[in-house]
Amino acid sequence: MYTGQTERPCCLCGNPETTTRLDLPPRAAQLLKNSESIAWRDIEGEVSIHFCESDWATVRDLVLDTGMSPLPRCNTAQASFVLREDFEALLNDVRDEPDQTPLEREMHEDAKRVVETHGSDPYVSDRDLVEARVVLDAFDRLGVTEATSLSATE
Ligand SMILES: [Zn+2]
Repeated sequence: MYTGQTERPCCLCGNPETTTRLDLPPRAAQLLKNSESIAWRDIEGEVSIHFCESDWATVRDLVLDTGMSPLPRCNTAQASFVLREDFEALLNDVRDEPDQTPLEREMHEDAKRVVETHGSDPYVSDRDLVEARVVLDAFDRLGVTEATSLSATE
């Protein structure tokens, strides 16, 4: 059954009570734990991961204090995303591989802006900064720079 983007448990410990969500670009799914079977190019929209209160405190410190990414420890099975086949099943229609470029470009630009304005813009929270750092780190690890795939199709 197609369920869409349902709320998921904590991607680190499985606790169903989560307090914080991070949204990631589709290709970042490759960096998650046990992600070998995920065809990230078939992901429609963002990949979301959720954290319980205590794990979020750890993740925030990890990212902000040490610059490390929590993604390799986050379980893919607890992430929420929508695959193209789910849409096809719902719509009884075969769709082309989704074009993730506009979404990823937007996420890349948003992340950079958050990093630049955190501390001076009161609406940019620590959560936003953690998300931005994780997103930029993921693009970096996967070899995506603005000069390559994100702007190539424009
Ligand atoms: Zn947890």
